[in-house]
Amino acid sequence: MKKFHTVIVGGGPGGLACATLLALQGKAVLVLERNSSIGPKVCAGGIPSLAQGLGFPEDLWERSFTSQHISSNWQHAVIRDAGPIIRTVDRGRLGRWMAEKAVAAGVTIASNTLVLKVGEDRVHTRNGEEFGFSFLVGADGSSSLVRRQLGIPTEQIGVGINYQVPGNFPEMQWHLNTDLFGNGYAWVFPHQDTASIGVYARRSTSKPGPLLNSLHQWAARHGLELKSRQPQAALINSDFRGWRFGNRFLVGDAAGLASGLTGEGIYSAIVSGEEVARTILDPGYESKKMDRIIERHRRHSRILDFASGSKLGGKLVLEGLIFCLRAGLIPFSALEMGIDQPS
Ligand SMILES: Cc1cc2nc3c(=O)[nH]c(=O)nc-3n(C[C@H](O)[C@H](O)[C@H](O)COP(=O)(O)OP(=O)(O)OC[C@H]3O[C@@H](n4cnc5c(N)ncnc54)[C@H](O)[C@@H]3O)c2cc1C
Repeated sequence: MKKFHTVIVGGGPGGLACATLLALQGKAVLVLERNSSIGPKVCAGGIPSLAQGLGFPEDLWERSFTSQHISSNWQHAVIRDAGPIIRTVDRGRLGRWMAEKAVAAGVTIASNTLVLKVGEDRVHTRNGEEFGFSFLVGADGSSSLVRRQLGIPTEQIGVGINYQVPGNFPEMQWHLNTDLFGNGYAWVFPHQDTASIGVYARRSTSKPGPLLNSLHQWAARHGLELKSRQPQAALINSDFRGWRFGNRFLVGDAAGLASGLTGEGIYSAIVSGEEVARTILDPGYESKKMDRIIERHRRHSRILDFASGSKLGGKLVLEGLIFCLRAGLIPFSALEMGIDQPS
């Protein structure tokens, strides 16, 4: 059996960020990824402004938007800023770029390798291999096996449905229609020559079938033809219950760090991945960034819980939020997941 300092289950942004940082410090790191290629993932690819300092090269960005169009039952707001408020990335390209960086740092990436079981000091794969570890990182997304094997339940979970539609879409749009989407929203996030058009909502209040019907109704009203296309759906875990468990760690969606309010999780996956690496390297490390991400995450959950209390309450919270954005009382960044301040 081959032994590594750290084995990371999952080659998404969280796993790769963690792996690169550890390898740069000379550690032997193995990333196990069940898919044949690194990167592609059901996702709208929206990256908020505060997360744009993560060092992505300029040519990785698909599109940049200095204005956001937000519609609700009662209002339409256009929020503008001097710089890009949100930019979009293609997950395939982001994954390839992160994987190249990881390999250059010395990480071993094994794709087509599904982890089936985690033992005391080793993981077992479907290919019949075993890999030993001193540290294990669960970066295996919203249905994380590592999380389940740690005995951590997942109750607060959202569902996201995405269509990638060809065409040139000029505006980035958010549609917070409580009659159709409850406390979720539909979006149009333009990429280079396509747009991600989709919907996100909490699974406890919106089941995937009715949510898809609502998306189709909304799209028809906006002259968007989706029904002839193939949707893709995935879960988004926002049930955060901790990230370090002895020599095992959870990052990103596996840790439930995606926002329950917006469904965003790329930024928190990357930052939590890096912070886990720093903690593995120095067990005394106090991660202020992790504290801030967790605090932000809890704030988002509290807003969502409050809005879920009653239908009218939910509507009033959303309308109040949009009014405050329109009036400039709160910046758009207040809704964002990222808070990349120096630690
Ligand atoms: C429809 C939709 C739209 C979204 N839009 C946005 C957005 O605009 N902006 C944003 O920030 N976030 C968005 N998200 C959320 C975002 O995709 C996730 O938060 C992000 O990908 C989390 O990164 P991660 O590294 O934690 O997990 P993931 O990206 O899910 O990576 C986990 C990896 O682990 C692998 N894996 C899982 N199990 C195993 C196993 N047993 N063995 C080996 N490998 C395994 C998977 O194949 C995957 O590659 C969206 C999600 C959905 C569903």
